[in-house]
Amino acid sequence: MPSDAPRSPDDPRPPDDPGYPDAARTAPTLSALDAHLVECRACPRLVAWREEVARERRAAFRDEVYWGRPVPGFGDPAAPVVVVGLAPAAHGANRTGRMFTGDRSGDFLFAAMHRTGFANQATSVAADDGLTLRGVRVTAPVRCAPPANKPTPEERRRCAPYLAREVELVGDGVRVAVALGSIGWQALLTTLAEQGWQVPRPRPRFAHGAEVTLTRVADGTGGTGGTGSQDVPALTVLGCFHVSQQNTFTGRLTPAMLDAVLLRARELAGIAADTDR
Ligand code: SF4
Repeated sequence: MPSDAPRSPDDPRPPDDPGYPDAARTAPTLSALDAHLVECRACPRLVAWREEVARERRAAFRDEVYWGRPVPGFGDPAAPVVVVGLAPAAHGANRTGRMFTGDRSGDFLFAAMHRTGFANQATSVAADDGLTLRGVRVTAPVRCAPPANKPTPEERRRCAPYLAREVELVGDGVRVAVALGSIGWQALLTTLAEQGWQVPRPRPRFAHGAEVTLTRVADGTGGTGGTGSQDVPALTVLGCFHVSQQNTFTGRLTPAMLDAVLLRARELAGIAADTDR
């Protein structure tokens, strides 16, 4: 697991300091970012909840050792498509330590990723189950399981550096960001605006099927803005209802609807149709 990797060297604060996540902004690699993240204890309410759930466990998992810590992003480290959810599920990613793994939401998402050529298998039950993703990375704006799946605005703000740095480190190859739900949508637009992407004002509202294409000007040195600059390829943000059971059990989000969003992401990212998974 990523906890073996070195923490960011620019990290002067203890993990329970509210400013601890800010040091993630200088993490030099995804593994350093993950190593910093998994030590984080900056949100007392979420730390207490994630650890209580890990101690008490659900009856069906009473023989398992829960992860009970912040959950890193998962998938292709240079993905053209990034999928951003909300937060780990208490008995899903908070149990298995891998994003969207071990619960019904993940079952729904990864089955769709398999149908659309992003995943080598349709199931996601444990961190060592052999699932690999190609061309896509899944992550979230809040990395600890929140009570009732509802992080507070302050918790969302505090956790923001992890998503921001992850998107930066995945790099300029990102062409499409899929937001699963309105919180992911808002977090993505905030992060992308900070990174120099031209986000329209007023900000586009979240909707299933919403599509916003952003442009940015790079200075040729890896930074943004400035004169003598050059255009970088556009990035499109797609909106999709979250894969929560609340949406999938009621038919608000169907497999066909999710497949259509993922296929649109493939098209926009210029990924050829998959034939060999
Ligand atoms: Fe740290 Fe984010 Fe978890 Fe808060 S939600 S403790 S900032 S990892």
